[in-house]
Amino acid sequence: MLRGLDGLQLRAQAPLSEYTRFGIGGPADLLAETSDAAVFTEALRRLQVEAMPHVVLGGGTNLVVSDAGYRGVVLRYTAAAIRHDGVRVFCGAGAELIDLVNYTVDAGLEGLQTLMGIPGWVGAAIYGNAGAYGHSMEEVVQRVRYWDGVAIQVRSREECQFQYRESIFKRRKDWIILDAEFAMRPGDRESLRTIADDILTVRNEKFPPTMRCAGSIFKNLYLKDLPPDVATQVPSKVVREGKIPAAWFLEQVGAKDRWEGRIHVAAYHANLIYNAGGATAAELCRMINNLKRAVRERFGILLEEEVQYVGFAPSEEETTAASHFA
Ligand SMILES: Cc1cc2nc3c(=O)[nH]c(=O)nc-3n(C[C@H](O)[C@H](O)[C@H](O)COP(=O)(O)OP(=O)(O)OC[C@H]3O[C@@H](n4cnc5c(N)ncnc54)[C@H](O)[C@@H]3O)c2cc1C
Repeated sequence: MLRGLDGLQLRAQAPLSEYTRFGIGGPADLLAETSDAAVFTEALRRLQVEAMPHVVLGGGTNLVVSDAGYRGVVLRYTAAAIRHDGVRVFCGAGAELIDLVNYTVDAGLEGLQTLMGIPGWVGAAIYGNAGAYGHSMEEVVQRVRYWDGVAIQVRSREECQFQYRESIFKRRKDWIILDAEFAMRPGDRESLRTIADDILTVRNEKFPPTMRCAGSIFKNLYLKDLPPDVATQVPSKVVREGKIPAAWFLEQVGAKDRWEGRIHVAAYHANLIYNAGGATAAELCRMINNLKRAVRERFGILLEEEVQYVGFAPSEEETTAASHFA
């Protein structure tokens, strides 16, 4: 069905461990890749018409892929052009976020410098409203162009319904981001570069570039949403921008330095889980579930994953991805 579509590179039985930062995941039946918007949307259209299961990946830095892999087609849209016109920046979904940050900093455009070093591609950064140091994508996204399953559409920032690590695209998995326009501010190139470089140095110490991980596994929690008896247990010094790091709850249940097979929780950061080499998705999911259970038993709350699951049956996803307060 996708064969014969010029400009689409196909790979059968593609090992998804090669496409994820965790280095975990079995084969996809088919992996299809292109940087051409017309080819990409035609592939999406055909997959939809044929009711063939499919999923779009970016850089694979926020994914837990099952050991069984994915029965269907995994797509990657690699359009990575970046350009600007005054303070307006235009960027393809397949650009590395780091390249977009570097581009804007070098152009003396302010707004993305604190996101320096967040791995992954621009499309997924919009999908998950990626952010760091109190800032996130939503502050600069002006317009997003996406495929809605039938045609290409455009949404304004307000229509993207951004929230902390959320957007409408996370709820509408069939909407696929193609590119976006960003509204930046004029800034001082030297000071933007200093901020970005300092942040990158700190991040590289916390997350060594070779570490097989997904950054934080769990989302932080809003203090206002916590049951009052839990909120009173949280020391005020850990609350930042109204949020409590999930790491605080994980520390209270002794998460640091835990092992599950070849999966390890960093000894210095309770929300940082990594593959120490040769780990499986089964081990990773066991660790995630054990930590959720421990926090739930101690505090009566359920942590919610920031990572996204690929290739799990719905019943498995229910156990791995349940995400409300108990
Ligand atoms: C070391 C490390 C540090 C990190 N630090 C941070 C941080 O500080 N802040 C932060 O926010 N995140 C952080 N992350 C998480 C990750 O970098 C972000 O979530 C990033 O935006 C994921 O991008 P990706 O291209 O790798 O997405 P993937 O992992 O490939 O995909 C993530 C999700 O996006 C969807 N998706 C991908 N492309 C599209 C598209 N074009 N349209 C619609 N949906 C799409 C996928 O289906 C999937 O559900 C970190 C990760 C690592 C490994």
